[in-house]
Amino acid sequence: MITLKNQRTYARRSGRSAIEDVMAYENIEWDKLGFDYIKTDQRYLSHWRDGEWDQGTLTEDNVLHISEGSTALHYGQQCFEGLKAYRCKDGSINLFRPDQNALRMQRSCARLLMPAPSTEQFIEACKQVVKANERFIPPYGSGGALYLRPFVIGVGDNIGVRTAPEFIFSVFCIPVGPYFKGGMKPNNFVISSYDRAAPQGTGAAKVGGNYAASLMPGSQAKKNNFADCIYLDPQTHTKIEEVGSANFFAITHNDEFVTPKSPSVLPGITRLSLIELAQSRLGLKVIEGDVLIDNLGDFKEAGACGTAAVITPIGGIEYNGKLHVFYSEKEVGPVVSRLYAELTGVQSGDIEAPQGWIVKV
Ligand SMILES: *Cc1c(COP(=O)(O)O)cnc(C)c1O
Repeated sequence: MITLKNQRTYARRSGRSAIEDVMAYENIEWDKLGFDYIKTDQRYLSHWRDGEWDQGTLTEDNVLHISEGSTALHYGQQCFEGLKAYRCKDGSINLFRPDQNALRMQRSCARLLMPAPSTEQFIEACKQVVKANERFIPPYGSGGALYLRPFVIGVGDNIGVRTAPEFIFSVFCIPVGPYFKGGMKPNNFVISSYDRAAPQGTGAAKVGGNYAASLMPGSQAKKNNFADCIYLDPQTHTKIEEVGSANFFAITHNDEFVTPKSPSVLPGITRLSLIELAQSRLGLKVIEGDVLIDNLGDFKEAGACGTAAVITPIGGIEYNGKLHVFYSEKEVGPVVSRLYAELTGVQSGDIEAPQGWIVKV
């Protein structure tokens, strides 16, 4: 059987065509999937010209042909989203809060002076892509999901620093595996001395520029055997803001759910969902406020949250050469475990979702 990990090398060696390459995916070993680019069957593509988005189409072509003067290439005029589609026990397909991704994309686009797809166009594009790539949705119970990557980029002939004359809105998808194979495990993180975003900058927008700035600190952290780095608030460097490209949360000894509040924190939809579930399902008090790096002793558990990993339990955080361990470096704490079970249960349809969270494809 061809595993997904070696199928690209295999395809190259065997000199298969793109179509034959796609056929090989029929042999996907769902439990071996990671988070890797895979060319799936169809992606959605819509162009904005003369003040409006066109109808949008599905295409097999995964290569964009754009002007060398595109603002996305020179001035970082682009934004993206990430969301997942889940196969349920009854065979139906769940999209998790796609309206929230649409709204966030509209805010990101506004910040970068780009036109945004309407919520309706956004959700319709996601549904079309999921349907056209249904065979790539990992089966119920495999722990995997179909990850959707919507993005908007400024394109067209241009050289001056100004908004682009044309735009592309596209959505593609890849099957992804469970983030933690063999169960959730705590990870250690290290405080970075770099900033991810500036006050009044673009920290709250999901834009590539923030990610470009995070590549070097992230790679340094990984070289030192940490899962990623943690960014402090750019103004005072005393408060936790983001965990790499995920949001931070922690549980106090009094069972309060605490998560940073700052204009340079990306308003994650996993974070938002955990806030609501912590309150309504676990009965925890929620505090959106400062998480001082000097007061980590206030917390008995901590985690990072985002669409890709759902929840990454934080074992310890290294700051000024000292590792502060929360619950354990080996085991996941009980509150983080319950939050994880509740959220993944809601996403896969096993647990009743709050009103409006699930959109059936
Ligand atoms: C996307 C993202 C998150 C997580 O957001 P979700 O909507 O939960 O996936 C957190 N931080 C940053 C910087 C992000 O880009």
